[in-house]
Amino acid sequence: CGIVGYVGSNKTVDVLMGGLGRLEYRGYDSAGIAVIDEFGVLNTAKKAGKLSALVGELKAHPINDGTTGIGHTRWATHGGPNDENAHPHLGDNNKLALIHNGIIENFAELRGELLAEGFTFLSETDTEVAAVLLGREYQRVGDLAEAFRTVVARLDGAFTLLAVHQDQPGVVVGARRNSPLVIGLGEGENFLGSDVAAFVEYTRRAVAIGQDQIVTITADAVTVTDFDGHPVETEEFDIAWDA
Ligand code: GLU
Repeated sequence: CGIVGYVGSNKTVDVLMGGLGRLEYRGYDSAGIAVIDEFGVLNTAKKAGKLSALVGELKAHPINDGTTGIGHTRWATHGGPNDENAHPHLGDNNKLALIHNGIIENFAELRGELLAEGFTFLSETDTEVAAVLLGREYQRVGDLAEAFRTVVARLDGAFTLLAVHQDQPGVVVGARRNSPLVIGLGEGENFLGSDVAAFVEYTRRAVAIGQDQIVTITADAVTVTDFDGHPVETEEFDIAWDA
């Protein structure tokens, strides 16, 4: 339901949790984050319930902080609101984490294909299918943005997807169709959000992402392409001060 992504030298866990807090007004039933830590290892924490439950989980089982991460609040559509179904979902032997807003209509067919290939699933969500597919593609091409292009071509429905891979630290990649995603431009840091509320505390400079586009952010660069990988023109706008 709510999405935030971050690359930069601020405390990533705090940026993600703060962003999720400002997206709380949208309603949700679970929350989770994934961070690539200072040692290059992907860590995740997720919990059904209010954000305070995730705060408690992070207190009980702290994760190492880093410079790259994604955060999600879930409004369940496929699979009940429990810890396993909360996002992020993992792929490529737990080296990749993915979050999703929306519904992947053809997930059952894709799940069947992946099960036949020997992949296993930990949740009942439509989302985990995208995480496993993206992991499979990453193993083939070794690049998150390129892997995304193949995966989005297989998905029907509505999605905003964000992913990180521990072999590409310092990079968050997102894609959207029929569901919103906005870039927040900082100095030596960049943000992604389902809504500007996700990062408004840190920057007032934003860039909207068009329908069927893929975005890659690093700490000092932002690249937007269409689903075929062709660069597209983007337009910056200022977030109003009362936002
Ligand atoms: N369809 C996904 C799920 O049920 C994502 C729901 C959402 O937009 O939060 O997990």
